[in-house]
Amino acid sequence: MAQVVDMRHRLEALAYSDPVTGLFNRTRLEEVFTDELTRSKQDSRQLWLLLIGIDDFKNVNDVYGHASGDHLLKLVAEVLQGVLAEGDTLARINSDEFAVLSPVCKDTRGAALLAQKITDAMARPFALPQASVFVSACIGVVGLPTDADTVPEALRNAHIALHKAKSTGRKQTQFFAARFDVEAQRRMELIHELRKAIANNQLLLHFQPQINSRTREVFGIEALCRWQHPEQGMITPGEFIPVAEESGLIIELGTWVLDNACRTAKAWQNSGFIFRQISVNLSPLQMRQPNFDRLVKSILVMHSLPAHLLCLEVTESVFIDQEAGRVREMLQSLSAIGVCLSLDDFGTGYSSLGYLQGLPFQQLKIDRSFVAGADSAPRKQKLLAGIVALGQGLGLQIVAEGAETAGEVAMISEMGCEAVQGFYFSKPVPALMVPIEVARIRGARETADVTPLRQAI
Ligand code: C2E
Ligand code: CA
Ligand code: CA
Repeated sequence: MAQVVDMRHRLEALAYSDPVTGLFNRTRLEEVFTDELTRSKQDSRQLWLLLIGIDDFKNVNDVYGHASGDHLLKLVAEVLQGVLAEGDTLARINSDEFAVLSPVCKDTRGAALLAQKITDAMARPFALPQASVFVSACIGVVGLPTDADTVPEALRNAHIALHKAKSTGRKQTQFFAARFDVEAQRRMELIHELRKAIANNQLLLHFQPQINSRTREVFGIEALCRWQHPEQGMITPGEFIPVAEESGLIIELGTWVLDNACRTAKAWQNSGFIFRQISVNLSPLQMRQPNFDRLVKSILVMHSLPAHLLCLEVTESVFIDQEAGRVREMLQSLSAIGVCLSLDDFGTGYSSLGYLQGLPFQQLKIDRSFVAGADSAPRKQKLLAGIVALGQGLGLQIVAEGAETAGEVAMISEMGCEAVQGFYFSKPVPALMVPIEVARIRGARETADVTPLRQAI
């Protein structure tokens, strides 16, 4: 009998606890939560749920391995336990998410104080076998019965609040607000509509010429995606690309963009319009597709477009990815196909310059933030000149982005930077307009000024 009881206890422990930290798991938390909720309703008391997400957990796992990741989780569990009051419940409910259920906090201030205590306690080095690491946490807070009526609703809203906290930065705490739910719903709707948009041909491409700053001849042309929504009008990529990335739809969208950009390039080439290359933006997720190089090759073959006419733009963020090694290999095989590779938004992301070594980039695009107003800000100008010199030293083509004024263009040209992409010359325009825009810019080279064709889009 004793053995049976012992076995039952052990099975229960397995079913209800997290094997890594020994804390309650999600199932057990939900049970405790249900009981606490009933009690708090009977006593008309508030109940608080704090969802804690470790900001850098993935990095720790990637850099030091899973065993160290587990070690970190144990240490975090200990730290959190040290902060809680008697009566609070701690559980680990996802790989890097802990939950605290607190009937002890009296009010919003109490919950805020607890969240603060948690973030303060996390601000210390955690000793892993290989090194000491600093991590931080974001917290989503839900108060019951105000923010939720049931356990599933509370967990869902806590996730929404945590997501919101994480989107504002590291070490952030966010209390749930009903409007977040509206925002989350809007995101879900957008995903749904974007899926339809891809199927129903509501996406289109606009193209922005890159102009040689000295000769005013066209250099390259960047394809930029647009969404012509039947009711909401033109939706900008700033709004739908993040949604496409979050939902994985970027794979389908990206293939559509690549295909259509190459088709357009071929049509330009057939019409006698001469340009150096067409640039297409890639998301890190696309680069991680195992056969992405094969896909690029087949699209080029399908449109009979020579590989050197295609330039693929990636941002520095692909190198902070946990699969940076695979990205490197993919870049190498793309380069072997003969396409040009461009490093986009240079200077705004990952700051280690080490990755510039040994990677097959031919082009560097300097982000608009370094260009805007640099002609009247000496320090900014120095920074820009430094970046141009760095790119030149590495033998890269340099495209300065976002030049809006004659002063900016003149300064960029003086620095010896080859190409300029910016509203000063042209906004992104439909494919048919590109040769017209290019002719207009070339025609204006003798005069001091080129009037931007703002109404073109
Ligand atoms: P990006 O790749 O840095 O593209 C340049 C953005 O700067 C474009 O915004 C362009 O309209 C804008 N721009 C160019 N010149 C100027 C200027 O003189 N002044 C100002 N203020 N802005 C200028 P857009 O078209 O809204 O695209 C925004 C971002 O969305 C792109 O930034 C790119 O990251 C992303 N994106 C656009 N199309 C695609 C796509 O097909 N695939 C992927 N993955 N991302 C895309
Ligand atoms: Ca770009
Ligand atoms: Ca850019």
